[in-house]
Amino acid sequence: MSAPGPPIGILAELTHRCPLQCPYCSNPLELLKVNRELDTQTWLRIFSQAADLGILQVHLSGGEPTLRQDLPVLVQALADRGVYTNLITAGIGVREGLFEKLRDAGLDHVQLSFQGARPETTDLIGNSRGAHVKKLSAAAQIRAAGLPLTINAPIHRKNIGEVQQFIDLALSLGAERLEVANVQYYGWALMNRQALMPERDDVMRVAALVEEAQERLRGVLAIDFVAPDYYAQYPKACMGGWARDAFMITPDGTTMPCHAAASIPHLSFASAAETPLAEIWGRSPAFEAYRGFEWMQEPCRSCARKEIDFGGCRCQAMKLAGDAAATDPACSLSAFHGRILALAAEDSVAQDASMTYRRIGVVEPA
Ligand code: SF4
Ligand code: SF4
Repeated sequence: MSAPGPPIGILAELTHRCPLQCPYCSNPLELLKVNRELDTQTWLRIFSQAADLGILQVHLSGGEPTLRQDLPVLVQALADRGVYTNLITAGIGVREGLFEKLRDAGLDHVQLSFQGARPETTDLIGNSRGAHVKKLSAAAQIRAAGLPLTINAPIHRKNIGEVQQFIDLALSLGAERLEVANVQYYGWALMNRQALMPERDDVMRVAALVEEAQERLRGVLAIDFVAPDYYAQYPKACMGGWARDAFMITPDGTTMPCHAAASIPHLSFASAAETPLAEIWGRSPAFEAYRGFEWMQEPCRSCARKEIDFGGCRCQAMKLAGDAAATDPACSLSAFHGRILALAAEDSVAQDASMTYRRIGVVEPA
């Protein structure tokens, strides 16, 4: 099937460098060193092609995107073309005056992550003493620059008891929005899932707590809740459907329909540094592979929900069903659904699992 129309958004991972070492990080185990990062001119060319293609928004992420000295230049180039820009930052080691500079360049929005609502938790999960205090200062700088702020709270077993405190924190920082997002298990999170997987009852408790807070704080703080698919009845539409709304670009220019797509061994991904984005989006074999509905097997093929969830996550199907075209095992209609439930239940009570902190060199490229 050819592209359904222009993509809405791009997640641009500008770098894999990061001052924190979160064990839930979605980056791949084989982190790219700085010498593999695209240079400024190449990113500018890619962003110009993205604007030509009709992209509406670019999420500037990493690693830690503020480590790129050229960030204001990149933001300016996107803003000049009318593209909405969202910065996703950990808020550590941000250069003095950078948020004002980014605002002046046209940045639209900032998402600031907190690894915990309590300083001890943030410092433990990020493996960086004093990280929480630095994040509080970053939040104040973002607000002082007049930029809209979302607090990202990635939830797992080590911090699932802090959701009420996350809500209080977001309110105290003057955030417009709080994203309570259960961790997705790929990259470093997949490696650490025995240490991070929460128990089902705790997830249900948090879902109820968030629902109550959403109602109570309507008009004051918007709270988004990203449910964990391993305890759900039906899967989510991963990235809004494979190569349907959005895609990502890694620090070396590799284009992928989602974070974990490289785990599907028969796919190879074009580089945006070498191939025009319109060609990648419109007809690259990896983007075409699971676009639309023709590739689907039963029960997805004849299911009424296929236009809602597009069969869920291809990477999870690959991992647990051994076939990327199978129904996502997170779906209760999948023959492999019992496997995902059993794995989650087993991982959530693992007693002696230690966390492997994310850093370059822990896993060397093959
Ligand atoms: S999840 Fe943690 S380690 Fe990964 S990029 Fe974000 S702040 Fe850095
Ligand atoms: S069978 Fe497929 S389309 Fe239907 S709900 Fe499950 S994953 Fe979605």
